[in-house]
Amino acid sequence: MTKVLGIIGGGQLGMMIAESAKNMPEYISKIIVIDPTENCPASQVGAEQIIADFKDKKAIIDLAEKSDIITYEIESGDSDVLKSVEKNAEINPSPDTLKIIQDKYLQKTFLSENNISVPDFIKIESFEDVKEGLRRFGYPALLKARRDAYDGRGNFKINSEEEVQKAFDYFKGQKLLLEKFVPFKMEVSVIASRNTKGQIKAYPLVENIHEENILRQTIAPARVSKEVIEKAENIANNTMEVLKGAGVFGIEMFVTKDDNIVINEIAPRVHNSGHHTLQSSKTSQFEQHLRAILGLELGETTLIRPTIMYNILGSKSFNGKYIPITISESDVYLKMYGKEISKPSRKLGHVNIVSNENETIDELLKKVESIKDKVITKPIE
Ligand code: AMP
Repeated sequence: MTKVLGIIGGGQLGMMIAESAKNMPEYISKIIVIDPTENCPASQVGAEQIIADFKDKKAIIDLAEKSDIITYEIESGDSDVLKSVEKNAEINPSPDTLKIIQDKYLQKTFLSENNISVPDFIKIESFEDVKEGLRRFGYPALLKARRDAYDGRGNFKINSEEEVQKAFDYFKGQKLLLEKFVPFKMEVSVIASRNTKGQIKAYPLVENIHEENILRQTIAPARVSKEVIEKAENIANNTMEVLKGAGVFGIEMFVTKDDNIVINEIAPRVHNSGHHTLQSSKTSQFEQHLRAILGLELGETTLIRPTIMYNILGSKSFNGKYIPITISESDVYLKMYGKEISKPSRKLGHVNIVSNENETIDELLKKVESIKDKVITKPIE
């Protein structure tokens, strides 16, 4: 019997999940998303939209009544409301898992209790706590919002004593944690999945390059030694063993100077660093997520062709409508998310630059350089 799929969030991730769902008509008959922005990306590819905030209780109840299965593209949904509607729709990953992951303090506590390495951290409840944490960790250290932070927007790096007050004031009473700074040599991630029957499968380790806390580029595969790959993939696997719930998880990690792996954070959803799978692998992360929550056998995750994903971010110089971006080069796949307005650093699309027969990562990196100019947003005069 086909199912109605509900998604909390209809941005680009919801859009690409919806596109995959449309390719599985034997399992999914309809897609409904909750998103506050009218004509959100997912609605542009055929999902029905409930226009409401991701945490809107009434909207979530409405979604659960209309859907057979519910998932999310954003971790800020209200896990308590979701838990209360579990009788109406199957929810994956489970609201209990969401509750832990969406709070960075609970997430890190959970991981360290399960012997999975994370940066040293403490809960912050007062200005005194920040000062105490800094005495323990030294400078720099990161003050982070526990919830609803993404693309680095909830972080403040404290470099010296002079910045402590400014950092504390920046968060205006939000719940916080303080984290020791990890002088990493590389950021990497694993996109892992578990289906409702317990099968676990992961894509190969990739390398992530951030600019101003926002992912800019993913290099698949990561340029690290076999030993590092093995360590990272083992840690990802251990993490999946302890985390409950089905679906795709984005596991972000730091490779330290002495080649150890420390988890930065986990996203309980498809992940920007997995967009390369749209072209590099037989099964995209979006299809994999659906296979996982539908209880289907997970798809093949081998990297067939090395690929670099480059994010198209809104230009810093303006807010507004932009000249459409086009690219026609072989082995370069452009994906725009249908967002009408460019805002500084807003994720508007991405390109996957895929290796042909024998192109090396270095050659792909040169290709990225050659197309950067073509993917800058320019205002429509
Ligand atoms: P987050 O939003 O917490 O994933 O952080 C965004 C980015 O900030 C990460 O991708 C890292 O580049 C950096 N970052 C976060 N936590 C730490 C840390 N403990 N040490 C060093 N860099 C960090």
